[in-house]
Amino acid sequence: LSVLNDMGGRLFLLGAKPGVAEQAGEKILERYPNIVLCGTQDGYFKDEQSVVRKVADVKPDLLFVCLGAPKQEKWIARWGDLTGTKMAIGLGGALDVFAGNVERAPEKWQKLGMEWAYRLKKEPQRIGRMARLPLVLSKAATERAFGKKKSGHFKNTKTKNRYIFYLTGNGETVYFEIGDKKYLIDDLNR
Ligand code: UDP
Repeated sequence: LSVLNDMGGRLFLLGAKPGVAEQAGEKILERYPNIVLCGTQDGYFKDEQSVVRKVADVKPDLLFVCLGAPKQEKWIARWGDLTGTKMAIGLGGALDVFAGNVERAPEKWQKLGMEWAYRLKKEPQRIGRMARLPLVLSKAATERAFGKKKSGHFKNTKTKNRYIFYLTGNGETVYFEIGDKKYLIDDLNR
């Protein structure tokens, strides 16, 4: 967001319950006033194509897709390119966080990179998906090392002018690469 702010870029927020993306957008703009919020859409729509058109019409540089994993990854893989956005990232419950609707872990936990553990304590039903994460990461490492897409968890999308790689980790951490550059977004609310 800080890079987008520096370039006066366009942001589209997609996902969460009705009204949340707008609230999240307001909070983001308070902090990053040069960003152009070019559109919002809640995550409980039926007509995929009309949402794709809605995004494509406003030509975002960056699209946050917050439908929860793995729905958001599948959505990006299927529709991302058609939206024409330069970059799409799956960000789980991030819009609720930006909007201020969820309690975050105390700063100490955040600094230690342990926010996931705090979340697990608050929502113990997350244990199943969290327990699978090491497996997902090892598959990712294998795919990266051997250049094969065995599991289909990870997608590289190459088009004429842009290169998008996305991998959602524990819901709080996102890595992506553009060309040779590697970025880590750690703690999206900071
Ligand atoms: N969500 C949505 N559409 C759906 C299902 C979920 O927009 O069909 C939203 C939900 O409102 C919440 C987010 O997706 O804002 C999922 O958050 P969660 O914390 O479960 O995702 P995670 O970070 O674990 O992937």
